[in-house]
Amino acid sequence: MNKLIKDQATILNTHPYSDSSLIIKALGKESGNIDIIAKGIRKKSDSFILQALNDYELTLYTPREGGLHLLKESSLTKERHYQNPKNWATALCGAELMQKQLISSDEHRQYYELLSSFLDYLIGLDAEPLPVFWRLLNRIIHLQGLELKTCICSGCEEQKPEYAYTKHDAQLYCQECTHNLIPPRDLHILSEEAARIFFHLDHIGNHLNELKLSKSTIQEINDFFGDYYLAHNRKTLKLKSLSVLEQLYV
Ligand SMILES: [Zn+2]
Repeated sequence: MNKLIKDQATILNTHPYSDSSLIIKALGKESGNIDIIAKGIRKKSDSFILQALNDYELTLYTPREGGLHLLKESSLTKERHYQNPKNWATALCGAELMQKQLISSDEHRQYYELLSSFLDYLIGLDAEPLPVFWRLLNRIIHLQGLELKTCICSGCEEQKPEYAYTKHDAQLYCQECTHNLIPPRDLHILSEEAARIFFHLDHIGNHLNELKLSKSTIQEINDFFGDYYLAHNRKTLKLKSLSVLEQLYV
């Protein structure tokens, strides 16, 4: 008999499996990223179906070796509704981002709480939601022990608006330091809007109402984080939900 555990978890994603079952990806407060099979759940009434972005207390049988947890019981502890489609799509981006993280067991709770506060913040937000996702990404980068300060120039190390970055190492530079660089082939000059978002990213919540996000600024910032991820984690950051969200902007 496998061990029975109870955990508080946020549902990241669900996929139908066979005629009646559901495969669930969840982020548990104690368990971290887990895959769960809920057998026969789709034959029950809707109230039994686990929904993405909600929190549940789950009772699970642990797998023997890296397989799927088996759902025994669930009880809804927090339901999250998003009226605005952009906020909802942004919330899904955060959930997908969490699925990609390799989280060490002493950090499960931190990631769980980070995601919870991100999802809760978006519920009542009446401003551009996407920068809140970039802030989440920035916080995860910090939890990974990387030093990304999008308001400090990599050249002079002063707190100044960034002017450009080099794509191969995703280092940001102020205007003066950019001009002192031996012109690298992969320099990207930032738009004013992107530079402003980077400068305020740590406290972006205070600036959301001033921002006018265009599709090109969004792609620019997503590309920067993609380049940063590739340079530091040697893997690409491809989120399907982020491409969906980009399409909601013109
Ligand atoms: Zn500088």
